[in-house]
Amino acid sequence: MTALADLSPADLAARYAQAHGAYEAFRARGLKLDMTRGKPAPEQLDLASGMLALPGNGDHTTASGEDARNYGGLQGLAEARALFGPALLGAPPEQVVVAENASLAVMHDCIVWAMLKGVPGSERPWSKEAAPAFLCPVPGYDRHFALCEEFGIRMLPVPMTPEGPDMEVVEALVADPAVKGMWCVPKYSNPSGEIYSDETVRRLAAMKAGAPDFRLFWDNAYAVHHLTPEHHAIPDILDVCKQAGNPDRAFVFASTSKITLAGAGLAFFAGSPENVRWYLARAGKRTIGPDKLNQLRHVRFLRDPAGLTAHMERQRELLAPKFSAVTEALERHLTGTDVIWSRPEGGYFVSVDAGVGTAERIVALAKGAGIGLTPAGATFPNGRDPRDAALRLAPSYPSLSEVREAAEGIALCILLAAIESERAVRAAPQ
Ligand code: PMP
Repeated sequence: MTALADLSPADLAARYAQAHGAYEAFRARGLKLDMTRGKPAPEQLDLASGMLALPGNGDHTTASGEDARNYGGLQGLAEARALFGPALLGAPPEQVVVAENASLAVMHDCIVWAMLKGVPGSERPWSKEAAPAFLCPVPGYDRHFALCEEFGIRMLPVPMTPEGPDMEVVEALVADPAVKGMWCVPKYSNPSGEIYSDETVRRLAAMKAGAPDFRLFWDNAYAVHHLTPEHHAIPDILDVCKQAGNPDRAFVFASTSKITLAGAGLAFFAGSPENVRWYLARAGKRTIGPDKLNQLRHVRFLRDPAGLTAHMERQRELLAPKFSAVTEALERHLTGTDVIWSRPEGGYFVSVDAGVGTAERIVALAKGAGIGLTPAGATFPNGRDPRDAALRLAPSYPSLSEVREAAEGIALCILLAAIESERAVRAAPQ
């Protein structure tokens, strides 16, 4: 297909008429579709419905003989740490803490405690620094950025490459002692799907940071969330940091929100022995102990690493066709344009680079056609995409037939916006 920029004026006018007509026809169907957030679909939650009957009346004694119904057990059950530590966090059980139901809350606590008290190696609390900052690979996870905004942490964007964050940029910026942390979603990154290369992980662990208490906020949210038969692996960050002589550099986070139940899963923290001691000292002021029955419920249900893998395979069977539906629609309508989209091998999102100055227009066109999209700019610090080009598509929640319809509509909106943009370029005074 000829690129839009190479079309004759007459052909461009014809493409516009065609795309506009297709959009109007789609709009006339009066659909209502939601592709805004990476929520699991009801069928995915149903996969864990057997868990709701567990551990069952009378089953409340843990492997070490604790009563899971009672207070205590701040670090979490040994059997839960043994099951999830290696699989989700790349950490031995003794370096894992099982928290409540949301890893975002664990990240929030780590930021608040760092701001108020500092972390191991801090000279003073982060809030006492002149202007603490975080490196933010972009596009990234909007809720990470919202935490920085909430607590007045400056955000320094770092471009993503197919290997992970651009390490030349990272290594230059991290030399500034004001840079205290960095957000990382190292596997199947939210939203663009990159898997950090071994070399990127090694450089992050080994780079010279200006701040003695610099932390990687290593959010391994999609550790086992594969969309293809290939189960990509990344190096265990705690090991690599230790080998690089920076054993305390990483705070590692994960949860079972997108494994079992998004509102009733387990969240985890992992770190060096020093970081785990720091975390537990703070957490012990906040709670007398976590919900150990939920931990037992998870262990009884998933049983072992093979059980976890089998469960994630059933998740993949539900999710992969939705992702294929999105990429098929984009390919059908947008091949030959300058639009670029990700082909994720895991995680929950497809990201689109729709061309400079088009993302807001596309979100508005989609809204007009009954499709809810994540607001343009949401995946950038402070909600501002300087190129107004990035879209995040979240196909997990709607049914497969709804995803097919929505993907068709979104592709039409992107195409129409691309043609409008080309017409505007040609109409502008030269
Ligand atoms: N991190 C990332 C990268 C995510 O995409 C999400 C959920 N969409 C979360 C964290 C939130 O996880 P939790 O449910 O454990 O708070």
